[in-house]
Amino acid sequence: MSPQGTASPNAVRVPAPVNAHSHAFHRILRGRTHEGADGGAGDFWTWREHMYAAAQTLGPAAYQQLATAVFAEMVAAGYSAVGEFHYLHHRIDGTPYGARGSDGEPHAMELALGRAALAAGIRLVLLDTCYLRGGLAADGSVLELDETQARFSDGTVEGWLRRHGQLGAALAELDAGAGLLSLGAAVHSVRAVAPADLAAIAARLDPALPLHVHLSEQPAENDACHNAYGTSPTGLLKEAGLLGPRLSAVHATHLSDTDIAALGRGKAGIVMCPTTEADLGDGIGPARELADAGAHICLGSDQHAVLDPYLEQRALEHAERLRSGKRGRFSPTELSAAAREGGLRSLGLGDNDDFLLVRTDSVRTAGSRSGQLPLTATAADIAEVHINGQLVARDGIHTRLGDPAKLYTAFFTENPEFS
Ligand SMILES: [Zn+2]
Repeated sequence: MSPQGTASPNAVRVPAPVNAHSHAFHRILRGRTHEGADGGAGDFWTWREHMYAAAQTLGPAAYQQLATAVFAEMVAAGYSAVGEFHYLHHRIDGTPYGARGSDGEPHAMELALGRAALAAGIRLVLLDTCYLRGGLAADGSVLELDETQARFSDGTVEGWLRRHGQLGAALAELDAGAGLLSLGAAVHSVRAVAPADLAAIAARLDPALPLHVHLSEQPAENDACHNAYGTSPTGLLKEAGLLGPRLSAVHATHLSDTDIAALGRGKAGIVMCPTTEADLGDGIGPARELADAGAHICLGSDQHAVLDPYLEQRALEHAERLRSGKRGRFSPTELSAAAREGGLRSLGLGDNDDFLLVRTDSVRTAGSRSGQLPLTATAADIAEVHINGQLVARDGIHTRLGDPAKLYTAFFTENPEFS
């Protein structure tokens, strides 16, 4: 669809963007990871330690409160749908919610996300994630889950497939015909799931479901994978039979030419998360080359250091300009297509009428051609957000939940362990 939409005097109507990669709980870390004991801010791996510490303490009630605020911020920023890459499945010690002898409802953490999405009025594709082992050491040896990761795991791939198979009905019951909640799937990474388990997922997961995977975000993942299996993470996915149109690779930052060709031939989705990749110092992925090879580019906000679909689009193009020395690597039309059609495809969502009204008379957009808004507007220029036939946000305020900032303030006040 054209980014131009239908003009009105001071605003244009544009199809609403889609956030193809989110971890709602990472929002806790915003503005908290930019210093370190050595005077530096650490790297991806030290950030990951902060993130795991935050993951350890969230229970279903706090998770629902936090995710409601995150999804409200997302909606107010113009996102109409979110792919939530979710792996906080169980209690801290790994015991399932609702297990015999344990209080709480089955799927408590997943339903917390579903309730948050219904409250915020956002379309949620719950990318329920298989996460079975601690990772790969540099020499390629397998690391066991540590205590911070126990709640991510279903023990075996059969355990994950079984729980995943039950989750669709639980989500549909919660959705109750609202048309906002659906189920997808994810493999955390080739670090967290062994090759035989990848093959089992390829053989047994419903082929109609979208499947996401973190891929080659860091050179260390590639090195460990080569040392363990003699191939790249992309090569491993291909060998397992997972590389195809229903697969979306998240980040895809450090790829070989062979990897790019394979992802392109497979017509895979590629979820670039430009503001997160910049924040974490991941590097700049070969988005243009992947698109030219046949892959489908889409965009995600991942850790939510920034929640602004326009800034993600701009960061994708700016990174391309910085690494290539050329402008116009992605046209404004291609940027808005990545944010919209790419995201819908990646999440297995059909087309819909969700739309934004974007102001064309703000300090940022006055004089801008409406087709070039991806390079001029920000979320602050969004006057209205319409999802599923409802007006859900106006001028940054959620129509039912109010100001997202107040939701965050309440969360951090009522849950001081995160402050
Ligand atoms: Zn991620």
